[in-house]
Amino acid sequence: MVSGLQKKTVSIIGSQMDMGAVRKGVDMGPLAIRHAGLIRMIRDIGYQVKDCGDILPMVATSEGNPRMRYEKEINEANERLFHRVLEIHEDQEFPVILGGDHSIAAGSVSAAAQHFGKIGLLWIDAHGDFNDDRITPTGNIHGMPLSAVCGCGPDSLVSFTEARVDPHNVAVIGAREMDPEEIKKLKSKGVSVYAISDIHISGIRKIMEDAIAVVTDGTEGIHLSFDMDALDPEDAPGVGTPVLNGLTSREGFIICEMLSDIHRLLAIDLVETNPLLDNRNVTGRLAAELIITCLGKTDYQSFGI
Ligand code: MG
Ligand code: MG
Repeated sequence: MVSGLQKKTVSIIGSQMDMGAVRKGVDMGPLAIRHAGLIRMIRDIGYQVKDCGDILPMVATSEGNPRMRYEKEINEANERLFHRVLEIHEDQEFPVILGGDHSIAAGSVSAAAQHFGKIGLLWIDAHGDFNDDRITPTGNIHGMPLSAVCGCGPDSLVSFTEARVDPHNVAVIGAREMDPEEIKKLKSKGVSVYAISDIHISGIRKIMEDAIAVVTDGTEGIHLSFDMDALDPEDAPGVGTPVLNGLTSREGFIICEMLSDIHRLLAIDLVETNPLLDNRNVTGRLAAELIITCLGKTDYQSFGI
């Protein structure tokens, strides 16, 4: 079993994509997280770091299909991201993918599925992202990537590969704003959804134990796709679609600590950071801290004092 955390080199790649969302500014997310000191922070915990730069989307001339706005531009950028992330996996390096809106996961998750075969997918999000062009209320593609990578449509978002993720190996944590048709579809396809109310009742540790069982069941490892809007806007104000009653930053760190402890991570997406709506880059800094926690940042307790 190859775990990302045993690899020597972390490769960072951003996607300056904002066409999957309505509010502008998430295209600057990769810049904000780098400015928070991500590269230095990863080096400080003992990894080699490669910065592979950013995918720059083509300029859009029209929204296109109103049920899948900017489909052409998003697919074109995601196909390039897919191939770049696939190369990182093939080079035995560990990819950290910075968004950008969550539509970029159609490229990044598909690359992990293509390389490793059967993967688990942990989706930390206020939203289900399980819409498709038939049931979407908005036409925003950042509400569709989880469905697409699971082979539940729209297939056009993952047309560059046959690789898909089995919904039975997918866990969503932090959900609290989902569309009725989306909820029905998540249930019918067998995705494990842990809503914020489940976390209130059972606590994040118990929920994570259950979710880890789902995403490691017969899989080669875990792709983590972390949408910053899973966190409460009080802790993470710089996101495109803030939703009250979110995870605390402490709960976010527990998620990352538990993932670090089990050494099964294959890749990390960190998406939806919006510097235009942020307060002195507090959300960008939090994103960087969450990433290095997943990578095994050593804390006081770990010194065994
Ligand atoms: Mg999302
Ligand atoms: Mg979201």
